[in-house]
Amino acid sequence: MAGIYVHIPFCTSKCFYCSFYSSTSLNFLDEVVEATIKELKLRKEYLGCEEVETIYFGGGTPSLLSAHHLEKILNTIYQLFPVSQNAELSLEANPDDVNEEILKTWTRLGFNRLSLGFQTFSDRLLKLMNRRHNLQHALDCVKFLEKSSFDNFNLDLIFAIPTQTREEFVSDIKKMLEIKPPHISAYMMTFEEKSVFGVWLKQKIIAEQSEDFCSQCFLFIDEKLREQGYEHYEISNFARDGKFSRHNSNYWLNDKKFLGVGPAAASFDIVSRQTNIENKFTYVESIGKNIIPCQREILSPNDIVNEFIFNNLRTSRGLDLNILKNQYQHSLDENILKFLIEKKFLQRSNDNIILTPQGMIVSNRILEYFLIE
Ligand code: SF4
Repeated sequence: MAGIYVHIPFCTSKCFYCSFYSSTSLNFLDEVVEATIKELKLRKEYLGCEEVETIYFGGGTPSLLSAHHLEKILNTIYQLFPVSQNAELSLEANPDDVNEEILKTWTRLGFNRLSLGFQTFSDRLLKLMNRRHNLQHALDCVKFLEKSSFDNFNLDLIFAIPTQTREEFVSDIKKMLEIKPPHISAYMMTFEEKSVFGVWLKQKIIAEQSEDFCSQCFLFIDEKLREQGYEHYEISNFARDGKFSRHNSNYWLNDKKFLGVGPAAASFDIVSRQTNIENKFTYVESIGKNIIPCQREILSPNDIVNEFIFNNLRTSRGLDLNILKNQYQHSLDENILKFLIEKKFLQRSNDNIILTPQGMIVSNRILEYFLIE
């Protein structure tokens, strides 16, 4: 089983916290779509004969693509790859791109999962982050979804936004739980160097929320969502009724191949990772010459063990120390494990360890203890 990721590197405006590669000019969109289709053809052997279990359109803003563009890309995938009958087909969308008609179109094209960038229900904070949509768009989007055939969708939430008050945060969670989406991704605000917020942070125009505020928000989300029947199945991801993201869950399994097409998309063939160039013009030019413009990173034996540890620990299934020992010939330091369990960052049951909610908050620091250099 394998997955295909299609990166659509266009947005009509740039969110201030975002450092993903995307262009705010829509010129060259046709050319990028055509080049993406050609890349699929050039790399049709990449997944071997493996059945494609998930197809994910991410970005950028894939909901900017016309039905014609989406259909062309999907048809190419169906022509070139064996796609499973019950494949998960996901599309990322902005709330203000959603209406009754477009939902019908996406259903007709075969999409069966949507991921919507809600981020917050506060108009003030949406504005501060330079989000394109407002609260009314988000509420309308929910109404359209309720009337549609989409029973599997994710709402993205960001917390610990600069200047966010505790009341605004609690209100976001309350509103989220009134909607009760099948899946919620809740991300703590980060300040990437290349983002506007990253620059503003350096210039002291904005400030990070305190560690205390961030921890309280994280633990509040964990508690309230679990109370409402959500499984906290990955550090930032919650699902109810088994509606996990199959695409992302496969990433964390570490043993599935992924083909990523489009500018900035990454592919993984178990032994190496290839990342396409982050420039739509160079991408189109290179694909035109039948060259995939990517950098290839071959994973060292240590990289493979590190990825196995990190990807398992970030999920609720945890890390099986027996598999680590027998398949990867590696053991974790028992003293460090004991220390982290005493600090209540880890829980151990026989030979399986998982992060506690407190451990998830500082997961990066914990993972550093286990990193093999
Ligand atoms: S967060 Fe999403 S919509 Fe906003 S700029 Fe980044 S990719 Fe585009």
